[in-house]
Amino acid sequence: MQPIPAKMLLAGLAEAGSVGSETITAVVTDSRAVCPDCVFVCFPGQRVDGHDFAAKAVEEGAAYVVANHPVEGVPEKKFVLCPSSHHAMVRMAANYRMLFHPRMIGVTGSVGKTTTKEFCYAILSAFGRTIKTEGNQNNEIGVPNTLFRITGETEYAVVEMGMSALGEIERLSRAARPDAGLITCIGVSHLESLGSRENILKAKLEICTGLLDGAPLALNADDEYLQLARREGMIPARLRPVWYGMNAPEADVRAVEVQPLENGMSFTLEDKEHGSFAVTIPALGMHSVYDALAAYAAATRMGLDAARCAAALADYQTTGMRQKVVENGGRVFIEDCYNASPDSMRASLNMFKEYPCKGRRFALLGDMLELGSIEEEAHRQVGRWAAQSGLAHLVTLGSASRFAADEAEKAGLAVTRCQTHEEAAQALESLMAPGDALLAKGSRGMRLEQVLQLLYAGE
Ligand code: ATP
Ligand code: MG
Repeated sequence: MQPIPAKMLLAGLAEAGSVGSETITAVVTDSRAVCPDCVFVCFPGQRVDGHDFAAKAVEEGAAYVVANHPVEGVPEKKFVLCPSSHHAMVRMAANYRMLFHPRMIGVTGSVGKTTTKEFCYAILSAFGRTIKTEGNQNNEIGVPNTLFRITGETEYAVVEMGMSALGEIERLSRAARPDAGLITCIGVSHLESLGSRENILKAKLEICTGLLDGAPLALNADDEYLQLARREGMIPARLRPVWYGMNAPEADVRAVEVQPLENGMSFTLEDKEHGSFAVTIPALGMHSVYDALAAYAAATRMGLDAARCAAALADYQTTGMRQKVVENGGRVFIEDCYNASPDSMRASLNMFKEYPCKGRRFALLGDMLELGSIEEEAHRQVGRWAAQSGLAHLVTLGSASRFAADEAEKAGLAVTRCQTHEEAAQALESLMAPGDALLAKGSRGMRLEQVLQLLYAGE
């Protein structure tokens, strides 16, 4: 964060007369990170309550404490009372961001946000100093933290925005004020909390509220719900939609002649405005091609040179266990252990079906967590997809995955059901031979990477 006057940072949160002339150096939510002249924001966490550390933060030099209620030991003049700490974070981030002028892409959607964000980062960093959301920090704490990393030297930024309820993306987008917006797709993640896919669509479209008139909005033309939004006039006419895809005829940016490679995908990118480019991306699967098109669409419509944008897609780097290709003992492992939802399971299995593999294909599928009432049916569906993915054998890990195992077996696929990492590693060790490939995918909480570690170690 670049130091800024407290009056600017706290505008709209604290009474104008109650803020002094300090210069604030950081906004901190973790008491261990408190430094002189920071603003310490108390969050009432489940295990630890930030308010318990407020007095200590002041002792250690915090200029102000944002808290939900008065705290003993914190002098009144250091105190900024705010009923919602999330709201305060977003407000301060909005105030801060207004002082700088990076060109920014805001990314939302049900799946593919982080992947698309990394494609945007690959492109934008080819043009200048760029900051991006670190990891997956896409919520009402992560987005402000990302915005606080902007400085006067930042030329470009890409910000991932997630949500768990209606209204959240609107608040984040209004704070970030991106120059271009991007919606990857409308899936079933967060169906539990939002009730319907229409509501998920509405929530994602909230990104429009932070965009200025005439701003480009990159949209997946092959997504049925985004098409619905188009037909029903839900996309504000004041914006400039740019559609990308492979199937819908009206796509402005499309991929043709898509070829799966061992370590990525190659395709021809056809842009109605800027012509055709041969593109190779170091990421697997059709869904990665979509994410690359999305980033290209947003960046070019923000005014960046099309040929350079297309070339920079090759600089994409995968992060955090998302479809990393690892070779071990002559076998190929596709580590996709970061997370799993029905949408991303389907995308990964589709990718794997086309994966150029010398030997046989195996899949290790772990439970998809937090699906609520659709848990059984979603796992059954994954089992049916797995059976159509050209697998030699399916290994499942976890209790919900038994539904996937049942369906896959019914459809004629050989299946081994496991309950522990060790069992799964042993099963795969005895099944796989050099030349074979394995796709490992499950929710973060299933820690499938531990199975792979056992396999790599030959245990
Ligand atoms: P989160 O909600 O955790 O932030 P996200 O939207 O950032 O998720 P990613 O982390 O990019 O999504 O990808 C999650 C999973 O979905 C990965 O397994 C990835 O391979 C797969 N995936 C990536 N892009 C797409 C896409 N466009 N459609 C379907 N699946 C995708
Ligand atoms: Mg993400």
